[in-house]
Amino acid sequence: MRRYDYVMAGGGMAGLSLAYAIAGSGLTDKSILIVDPETKGENDRTWCYWTRDGHPIEAIVSRDWSVLRFVSHSWAHDFDLGDYRYAMVRGEDFYRETLDRLERHPGVEFERGRVLRIEDDEECARVETEHRTVLAGWVFDSRFEPQEYEQRCGPHHYLKQHFVGWVVETAQPVFDPHTPTLFDFRTPAHDEMRFFYVMPFCERRALVEYTLFSAELLSDAEYVRAIETYLREVAGVTEYRVVDRERGVIPMTDEPVVRREGRRTLAIGTRGGRVKASTGYAFRRTQLDSQAIVQSLLRRDHPFDLPAPPRGARMLDTMLLQVMYRRGELSERVFTALFRRNPIDRLLRFLDEETSPAQTIAVMASVPILPFLAAFWRTHVLKRV
Ligand SMILES: Cc1cc2nc3c(=O)[nH]c(=O)nc-3n(C[C@H](O)[C@H](O)[C@H](O)COP(=O)(O)OP(=O)(O)OC[C@H]3O[C@@H](n4cnc5c(N)ncnc54)[C@H](O)[C@@H]3O)c2cc1C
Repeated sequence: MRRYDYVMAGGGMAGLSLAYAIAGSGLTDKSILIVDPETKGENDRTWCYWTRDGHPIEAIVSRDWSVLRFVSHSWAHDFDLGDYRYAMVRGEDFYRETLDRLERHPGVEFERGRVLRIEDDEECARVETEHRTVLAGWVFDSRFEPQEYEQRCGPHHYLKQHFVGWVVETAQPVFDPHTPTLFDFRTPAHDEMRFFYVMPFCERRALVEYTLFSAELLSDAEYVRAIETYLREVAGVTEYRVVDRERGVIPMTDEPVVRREGRRTLAIGTRGGRVKASTGYAFRRTQLDSQAIVQSLLRRDHPFDLPAPPRGARMLDTMLLQVMYRRGELSERVFTALFRRNPIDRLLRFLDEETSPAQTIAVMASVPILPFLAAFWRTHVLKRV
C-alpha cells in the first residue's frame, strides 16, 4: 500500500492552501496526495477579505482598495481603511497559482475521485478513495456536503449566507472604481438580514451581489428580481448586460467543531470551522490556519498545536446569529450602529477576533442593548435557539 506523509481529503481552497503552504515551507521532502473529485480551474468564486499584514499569496491579488462604503437608510459613510486593505482574489487566479506550484513539486500527487473513508490509529491513517486505499502520516479533511448542512438541526444556529452576484457592464459610467460597497441596505429586507454588496472593477463594470444571512434560500426568481430592482432603483442603471454570474451558500453556524477528528486526522476549511460564523468570511482565516498547521508540523511533528479560539468569540457569534435569526428586522439597525459608532479598525479587529476585552466591550456597547440581552438570555440561560 502506498504511503504519503500528508493526504488532503478535498483539494478546494483549504486543501490547496495548506498543500501550497507546506510546499513553500521547510517540509519540502514530504510527499502529499491531494484527492478531489473536481478538476479545479474555473472562476467558481471570488474571495475578498481585509488585511493589514500583506497577502499570503501576493501574486494572486487582482485588486485591493483602501476605502469601503457603508450605506443604510439612515446613514452612509466611506471609510478610509488606514493600515487595512480590502483585497480580492479571483478563483481562477488562486487555482492557477496553487496548482502550477504543486504540479511542479516532485512530492505532490493528485487523484481525481472521492475520499470514502478515513480510519486512523497511532501509527498511520488508512484513506480509502474511490480507486484505492493509501496510508498517510496525517490527513487533512476538508470534505463538506452542503446538502448535509441543509438538514442539520439541533441546539445551535444553522443560518446560511446565500447570494447571487452578477458581473454587469453598464452603458453609462455609474460605479466608483475606488470604493467597494460592503453593505447597502437600501432595498426591502422583509424582516431579514438582506443587503447588496458591490465590487467595482471600473466605472462601467462591477460585481453586484444580493446577499442574505437567513435560514431559508430564495427561489431563483427572487434573487433576480432583487438585483434588477437594485440596479434600476438604487444604482440608477438603465442599460447593462450581465457578463458573469456567481452564486453561493456559506454555512453560518455556532455548532462547535471537533478539529481533531481522529488520531491522525485534522479538519480544515469549512469543515474545520474556519468560516467565521457571524460573517461568512473564511479565506484569510484559512490562510492563517495553514501557516499555523505548518508551524505545528515543523515544531512538533504533528498538526494539532494550533492557537485556541479567543475566549468569548463564540458567544458573540451566537448572539449575533440569534439576533439575525429571531430579530432579522433589526439587522440594518444593528449593522448601522456597529459601523457608525466604532472606528473602522476596531470593528475589523473585532470581526477578526483580535480585540482586547476593553475594545470588545466598546463594540458591544455600540449596538442596541435590549435585543442582545434577550439573545444572551435565550441562548445562554434558557439554552435555546
Ligand atoms: C461563491 C462563494 C464565494 C465566497 N466568497 C468568499 C469571500 O469573498 N471571502 C471569504 O472569506 N470567503 C468566501 N467564501 C467562503 C469560503 O472561503 C469558501 O467557501 C471556500 O472555498 C471554503 O474552502 P473549503 O476548502 O472549505 O471548501 P471548498 O473550496 O469548497 O473545497 C472543498 C473541496 O472538497 C471536495 N470534496 C467534497 N467531497 C469530497 C470527497 N468525498 N472526497 C474528496 N474531496 C471532496 C470538493 O470537491 C471541494 O473541492 C465564498 C464561498 C462561496 C461558495
